[in-house]
Amino acid sequence: MNSLHARYPFLTSSREAVRDANLDLAEVIASEGDRHPAVERGVERVRRALLDGTVRSPADGPRWGITAEVLSYPIARMLVSLLDAPGAVEKYASAEAGTAYEQFVGDFESSDDGLKSTQGTSLTLESLLSDFDLSESVTKREDDFGVAVGTYLSLVGDFSGDDWRLVSRRLSDGLVGVSQAELHELLRSAAEERIASDLPLSVPEEIEDALSEEVSELESSFTDADFSHDIDTLAPGFFPPCMQALLTDIRDGEPLAPASEFSLVSFLASIGLDADEVLALCEVRDSSRADRLRYRVERVRDERSAQFAPPSCATLDAYGDCVNKDDRCETITHPLVYYEDALDENGTVTDWRDR
Ligand code: SF4
Repeated sequence: MNSLHARYPFLTSSREAVRDANLDLAEVIASEGDRHPAVERGVERVRRALLDGTVRSPADGPRWGITAEVLSYPIARMLVSLLDAPGAVEKYASAEAGTAYEQFVGDFESSDDGLKSTQGTSLTLESLLSDFDLSESVTKREDDFGVAVGTYLSLVGDFSGDDWRLVSRRLSDGLVGVSQAELHELLRSAAEERIASDLPLSVPEEIEDALSEEVSELESSFTDADFSHDIDTLAPGFFPPCMQALLTDIRDGEPLAPASEFSLVSFLASIGLDADEVLALCEVRDSSRADRLRYRVERVRDERSAQFAPPSCATLDAYGDCVNKDDRCETITHPLVYYEDALDENGTVTDWRDR
């Protein structure tokens, strides 16, 4: 196992590395004494995915070894399969794919044109396409990439946005033209499909028993964060300072870190905004940013609005997004509570949508 497998545990070579290591996952999970680091990281993976929209460890969290990282992925898949939480599988797969996307875009940029094979532990475009069995379906051209039309249609799947519709694309010789950034979005979709495949797993009873404590721990952390709030008023003037700052940045066209974007989107989804309303409020004009935001909103929302609350003040602080704190901030631990209190205190408020 190497760091490539740790960073991209869904790759075929990573699965093979686990197999070749001859490690018995059931033994790792059921080991006596302290919880195995792979199980600890598996729990963190699922918690971060469902609450924070990423599977990266927090900056101030523990550093995990390669074996713990690689093994934590199959363990996280079992944990998410055992959770009694609607939408958990989809949110988990989306967070894993989103984290992989950030990493592979960085890797491609650091390896020349991203097409050359390297012996190192950076992922190349060539190797990712090969792993997804897409080498024959994607062609590098002078100014863009050509994607075989059948592959394109299966990868755009539930992408919304008119730009992704086939009628909006350049099509020649059975190939759909996409930019490099669009190809990366398609690869994120391929990663999500790979990660979600076979989920939820049918987990053997002995492993289910051995993971029961971890499952309860995860379920209680969602319960702690779950809000019964029924906020349906949109009044940006009463947003907590952190959300006001993120909203200003996005309106100014500033790039937001993925975790910050997730925080803003899940906050807005939690107060009942749908994708169109989020785009209107954020004044998003750039089409690729609009597509990404829409994608995020649709994954964060479910029938009951946001199933998992946006990050707490402590998490926002860890991201560096807790800014411009005011007196009310000293009385709460969650941005949603701040907003609810601010609305309650101010009585009748005009909804932004009724301006
Ligand atoms: S204390 Fe909480 S609500 Fe206030 S700015 Fe920081 S993260 Fe936002």
